[in-house]
Amino acid sequence: MNIDDLVKTIIQYEKIKVTDFRLEKSLYNEEEIFVATVVLDEDEKYRCPICRMKCEKYGYKEGRNKWWRSLDLGKNKFYLESELARCKCPEHGVHIQKMPWALHNSDYTYIFELRVAYLAAKSPTSLVSKQFRIKWDTVGNCVNRIQNSIKEFAEITVLPSKIAIDETSYKKGYKYITTVQNLENGEIIWANEGYGKEVLKQFFKKYTSEQLAAIEYVVADGAKYITDCVEEYCPKAKRCIDPYHVVQWANEELDNARKRLASDLKKNDLH
Ligand SMILES: [Zn+2]
Repeated sequence: MNIDDLVKTIIQYEKIKVTDFRLEKSLYNEEEIFVATVVLDEDEKYRCPICRMKCEKYGYKEGRNKWWRSLDLGKNKFYLESELARCKCPEHGVHIQKMPWALHNSDYTYIFELRVAYLAAKSPTSLVSKQFRIKWDTVGNCVNRIQNSIKEFAEITVLPSKIAIDETSYKKGYKYITTVQNLENGEIIWANEGYGKEVLKQFFKKYTSEQLAAIEYVVADGAKYITDCVEEYCPKAKRCIDPYHVVQWANEELDNARKRLASDLKKNDLH
């Protein structure tokens, strides 16, 4: 595998060329970091961040170089470096060009922020901050940017064979979000505010029965509305229970059994 393909795989974006790849000392501390300098393919340069239209470069000067933090390479942090120019859209005026591997105005790649947001939905912020070596505030910023970008999700036409459905609460349990994940690569392919049958139906209704037939396994907790939806929209798919919930239920049952035994012993004056 050459460096070009490696970088494309890590950032999950194809239309670039890697012009330099190096291990260097960070300017802030003595830490060794990987840096890949990349240029966008000609056709993807100078696109308007609002309408994505191909525009003219604005100004004659070279744009400044910007860095984006991407997912680590082993124990080293990995950064992407590229020229950030301005473009002039006939409709939207002068803007900093759209960089396809990151959300606009973010210092992180999209795939990095997606991983942070996914872990943040399941774990305490302190743990996410430690694991990704980012500030506490950055965790929240990544989650916000991902939430706001949900409408920007590329529409997929070919459904994966294994999906996971999950509902997560945020804002201290006051708000819910339902997500559908591609289990083969971990990507979130659909998300919508709220939970329940009517919310989940919106995902299935986007596809024809031929497209839905591609789904072979659906992993989720034991919720009946999920089983109902699977039976209605992809009856041939196998409904699987998420191992996380199986372990949780087993632990609860063990705990109940322990409590029952303890109270029986107490009743019979045994220790
Ligand atoms: Zn525009």
